[in-house]
Amino acid sequence: MPGRKIVAAALLLAVVLTTACGTARRTTRETQPTREGIVVAGRFIAAPVMRIGLEGAAGTVVTVKAPGGIALVSLPEGKRVAPDKPLGQVSFFVAEVSAGVSGEIHRVQIASLRNKQQAEKLAADVRRKLDLTVVVRFSSQTRTWRVQAGEAASRTQAAAIEKKLRAAGYAETWVVRDAAAPVSGGTISAVDASGRRIAASAIFRCAPRGGDSLLESSGSRYRGALELRVSREGRIIPVNIVNLDDYLCGVVPVEMSPTVFPQLEALKAQAVAARTYAYKNRGQYSAEGYDICESARCQVYNGAGVEHELTDRAVRQTAGEVITYGGEPVNALFTSTCGGHTEDAANIFPGDEVAYLKGVVCEPEAELFSSVASEDEPGITYGADGLPLDLELAALKTLGVVERDFQAQPREGLSGRQWSLWLEKAAARLGLRQADSVPQLPDDPDLKEAIVAAATAVGWLERIDRQVTDGDLMILADFEGVGAIDPAAARAALYFLRLGLIGPEPDGRLAFGDPLGQTAALRMLHRLLRHEAARGIIAGRLVRVESGRVVLRRKEAVEQHTLGAGARLFKRFQEYTVPVRSLQMAPGDELILFLRDNKEVGALVHSPSLEGIASDRSSRYFQWDVQYSPEELREKIKRYADVGPIVELRPLRYGVSERIVELEVVGGEGRAVLKGLQIRWALGLRENLFVIEKRYGERGLVETWRFIGKGWGHGVGLCQVGASGMAIAGKSYSEILRHYYTGVEVEKLY
Ligand SMILES: [Zn+2]
Repeated sequence: MPGRKIVAAALLLAVVLTTACGTARRTTRETQPTREGIVVAGRFIAAPVMRIGLEGAAGTVVTVKAPGGIALVSLPEGKRVAPDKPLGQVSFFVAEVSAGVSGEIHRVQIASLRNKQQAEKLAADVRRKLDLTVVVRFSSQTRTWRVQAGEAASRTQAAAIEKKLRAAGYAETWVVRDAAAPVSGGTISAVDASGRRIAASAIFRCAPRGGDSLLESSGSRYRGALELRVSREGRIIPVNIVNLDDYLCGVVPVEMSPTVFPQLEALKAQAVAARTYAYKNRGQYSAEGYDICESARCQVYNGAGVEHELTDRAVRQTAGEVITYGGEPVNALFTSTCGGHTEDAANIFPGDEVAYLKGVVCEPEAELFSSVASEDEPGITYGADGLPLDLELAALKTLGVVERDFQAQPREGLSGRQWSLWLEKAAARLGLRQADSVPQLPDDPDLKEAIVAAATAVGWLERIDRQVTDGDLMILADFEGVGAIDPAAARAALYFLRLGLIGPEPDGRLAFGDPLGQTAALRMLHRLLRHEAARGIIAGRLVRVESGRVVLRRKEAVEQHTLGAGARLFKRFQEYTVPVRSLQMAPGDELILFLRDNKEVGALVHSPSLEGIASDRSSRYFQWDVQYSPEELREKIKRYADVGPIVELRPLRYGVSERIVELEVVGGEGRAVLKGLQIRWALGLRENLFVIEKRYGERGLVETWRFIGKGWGHGVGLCQVGASGMAIAGKSYSEILRHYYTGVEVEKLY
């Protein structure tokens, strides 16, 4: 076969280019698949190849651009169109839709309702949630309005749609056969940028001509190639033909933001889950001419424009890996925040018993807890305001700002000389080349003089001048004696107040004219250095403590710091920070370290999470509180159970995670039982994990329905925020996957 020889020769001469998310590219003729991939419009696409239906870009006209020019091929002839013409942009029009009818079409019936408005509301709901085609049709036989979803060419395909609906909580569905529908196919006209027709064909394929350039359509950029043909509805749905991993680079950052979750191992877990989903669902839309769709109905794909260095790495480092159970790729469901425990799939998606989708606890294991202890019993030094002053003393001594042998007398004043000395050292800690000369201070400076000296020493005068206006001084008007001080000092004082460096006295006075006390001086200096993130102050999240070293994560990087002998330990509960003898710490807890000479830890502040120890506690949806009036509740539930005014909500069954999985709704005009995901949709809540509280009015009727819950999502499979928590605790992506999916393996498929 001469054709093969040409391909082989071309491959031998091929130039291979590799970029972050672009796979190897070779130039050859549009013909048969090569061993490791296929060639589409002259562009080599490495195997495995996916076909993604870009429904968002669909229309009767689709325009494709490429800065380096477009290579265009018409099918089935496989002929290169206008090879000598520089095509920067090509528009494809539906020129003609083929007539003819197909045998039958299948739809999934969701409900049959007497009320048309209700049926339409339900249809809109399904459309919004699942992005399916949904129709409402009147049946004269039953005299009801039928809500039907999807347009499937086969019963198998309809079954897939039905499964999705069931997964979404629509429990009473069945597949119905419908009247004939128009067959797919037609003719497309390709038109260049000047509006001239360049070709007509049933199918076009295009790829960028330039090595590194990408195709652009509807504002998104794509790797690989695009294929265009007329769909059953008479539109063109561009199909992105792309390498599976290149596709994943456009999926993972959308499903799990690398800026919100910068933990590589968590992103790798997400990448493997997304690859498993894509792999398992290949061919789901074969009747439409592609493998999977680009929307939330499948998994969201936004093309090359959303790629991120970190998620690219997550995809590359797990290349070919999928999650399997009994040798088969799994249905890798994931949820945003599980609220501390995931749930069995069967409880949320009734009828879906899946061995590997079992509820698991979303907490770090006990061995991941770290403890540290100090040798001596801490004695508390109270400040003049009655609160401990130990942290300020330990931090400032560790940083070398306050002398190590300084003996605090919190209720006494501070000399001007001492204050100047501390300010000079603080300025050095802030990396100021030369401390602006500290103004000459009297022996016993008052608070306003101390503030002005501090502002001058750390070079803030210009900043304060811009940030605080004379008009702003109104804020201070309520405080006694403020009017008497000079406006420049008042502005500095207001700025210090704004940053929380100073505060009113316990009696509510702003004592600008009082002598500077040691307590105020130490607090002011400590807060100033913290606010400016001075050298030697490290804030991060605990990974673990091992052999005398604190391992913590600062943004993406992991650092280790040795605990110095006699390091002071502090526990922080909201605004109270107290010295303690020992600390029990969970991975992910917030820590602040103060380093001695920029080396070992001299003081450590631990902020335990008051949300508990769950791995996903960092999510702002970890806990929530929703309240409805009786009218609001009735209106919400009506779409799922039209039972009149709600009298009682009675949980009938709880899942392994104590999610409510069956809820009886008792209304003035009837009762209904909601199951699984339906419950949270009917109530408009983020999760099934909640308790119900009622508040009664004076006449003994419920006035407020209150739902206090945890989490966000369906609660089944991998918990994304929890995965990030496990990654912070030092777990690998395969440990994360095997934690959330019971009994699975991570296997390399290619
Ligand atoms: Zn979780």
